[in-house]
Amino acid sequence: MTIFDQVAAQLPAVLADLEALVAIESVGADPARSDEVRRSAEAVAALITDLGCPDVRVVSSAGGAPAVIARFPAPAGQPTVCLYAHHDVQPVGDPADWETPPFAATEVGGRLFGRGTADDKGGFAVHLAALRAFDGRPPVGVTLFIEGEEEIGSPTLATLLAEHHEALAADVYVIADSTNWAVGQPAFTTSLRGLADCVVELRTLDHAVHSGAFGGVVPDALTSLCRLLATLHDAEGNVAVKGLAAAPGQLLDYPEDRLREDSGLLPGVEYIGTGSFVERLWSKPALSVIALDATPVDRASNTLIPCARAKISLRLAPGDDAEAASAKLIEHLRDHVPWGAQLEIRAGDTGEPAVIDFSGPYADAARAAFAQAWPREPVFIGQGGSIPMVADFAAAYPEATILVTAVSDPDSRPHGANESLHLGDFAAACRAEAAMLDAFSRLPSAP
Ligand SMILES: [Zn+2]
Repeated sequence: MTIFDQVAAQLPAVLADLEALVAIESVGADPARSDEVRRSAEAVAALITDLGCPDVRVVSSAGGAPAVIARFPAPAGQPTVCLYAHHDVQPVGDPADWETPPFAATEVGGRLFGRGTADDKGGFAVHLAALRAFDGRPPVGVTLFIEGEEEIGSPTLATLLAEHHEALAADVYVIADSTNWAVGQPAFTTSLRGLADCVVELRTLDHAVHSGAFGGVVPDALTSLCRLLATLHDAEGNVAVKGLAAAPGQLLDYPEDRLREDSGLLPGVEYIGTGSFVERLWSKPALSVIALDATPVDRASNTLIPCARAKISLRLAPGDDAEAASAKLIEHLRDHVPWGAQLEIRAGDTGEPAVIDFSGPYADAARAAFAQAWPREPVFIGQGGSIPMVADFAAAYPEATILVTAVSDPDSRPHGANESLHLGDFAAACRAEAAMLDAFSRLPSAP
């Protein structure tokens, strides 16, 4: 039997285990379901123990959610590969938006629907399939690290990596939590945008006054704020904040009709910014107003609004620095306040962008294994959002190779209603991972 046959033989049982994991409501953001997050960690640990793994632990740090660390020791002279996924999931939102029950995995038309099928219990299932294909005796050392708080921003990940530094040390990290480029088209994610946000508040009056009595002389705060926010882009929709970095863009073509469908852009609405679509999405900064506080329409009266505030979200290109970019945004806001309005700015969260170096013997071997296992060669993509834990791994293990892989495709809708896993792609991802571990074991030692 080839390794691909071995994987194929494991898939039905792995999918049944995935369905059992999906039934556990491990919603990290819901304190009422912290027991479910624990139950999910224990279910993951039990599946790994059943493989004959000699060292399986459920760990947590500083009140963080439980993660699973499990180690299959490296055969002599073989490298160690750390396989990452996370077992916590996003909330389901309005259950009425789901066409199948979110916590009962349901197969429809070649896809498995349910919360966590793609993000990221499906990622763990790939690791499980690869290990089972080797009957629990992988040809290289394997450490599984299945986190339990990725969907709430991994607050204790850096601490976990520090406290379990030795146990988690590896030559290669495989982070199975990104997105493939298309159904049937695998991708390695090699760049991630960063993030800086802030809340800006403008005051023009010490109390609301009659708009008829004072309008025309006295500026209101909301109009002033709108004028300020309007300075954040140029007429074409490019970010107008000076001094932000832009990175060289990938060469992939994102078909216009697919982008419109993926994003839900309404007919007639134009795109903003300049450059290719993937350049705008992955390699250039983006700025959006994501919240606004002012008088709600239902409570409007004929008064000039004294105070208004907005939350601004800035996505940073790879190569930028989050603190420096945040300072440039704040400087822009200060320089463009209209009519002498009083300005207060509260800087918020930041996350560093990342360029993930895809080079060296492990990367080359992974690429070849993926090309064998999938119908098409892998491509290299960026992500417009951030995956903050990639930076945590890179900081903790600077010498290691990091490979960011995926089970989801552009229609998987992770975080949204009707999340699903494409079963053909899932099988290919399992084949690719098993072939990759096999390829790593054949590299000349200590590459
Ligand atoms: Zn995820």
